[in-house]
Amino acid sequence: MANKLISKQQLELLTQEVKRLGANASAIISSKEIQVKDNLAALCNGEYTCPNYGLAASCPPNVEGPVEFRKWQEGSEYSIAVKIELPTSVMFSDERKGVMQLLHQIVAAVEQKAIEIGFRKSKAFAGGSCKELFCDDQEKCCVVAENKPCRHIEFARPSMSGFGIDVIQLMKSSGWSTPKVQNTNLSNEDAISWVAGLIMLA
Ligand code: SF4
Repeated sequence: MANKLISKQQLELLTQEVKRLGANASAIISSKEIQVKDNLAALCNGEYTCPNYGLAASCPPNVEGPVEFRKWQEGSEYSIAVKIELPTSVMFSDERKGVMQLLHQIVAAVEQKAIEIGFRKSKAFAGGSCKELFCDDQEKCCVVAENKPCRHIEFARPSMSGFGIDVIQLMKSSGWSTPKVQNTNLSNEDAISWVAGLIMLA
């Protein structure tokens, strides 16, 4: 599949947009470097089933998964990784929801910007369930339950987990260190954790 050529200026414009919208860092990586693993995607409904499994159009089994992701990768030369840093005390508090919403908003906005400048097949991925983040007050995801358009299409993007994206590898490819504090270590409130998203340009 032919890759659309993207200029350095276009890449800079998009990465600047990531930061302007509130992320701490953005990095341009080769899309080929993204590692997608079937066993990671299977974790959503493995030995432990994620409480969000099946609840939204953007989580398994309602997303295309690793097989389709690898096909999209073939048509993409570059991707943009996005990182938001946050104190561990926030990561494991009620404030986390606002950070995850921001992550979705950033990747969705940059995806739309990429589409505007001609990369019409670009796709954004975030983390966490959009049901929990944007439709918590709704009984059901209307896409799944009624085949209606998403209520928050301008923000809600699929979680990287459902595609089996290796997020630790993504962080390494982006040149970022990956210390991630467990919630067993909440006493270290100054420790910095992070959440990440991705825009695949195509
Ligand atoms: S309608 Fe709500 S739960 Fe369904 S995909 Fe959109 S944001 Fe997610």
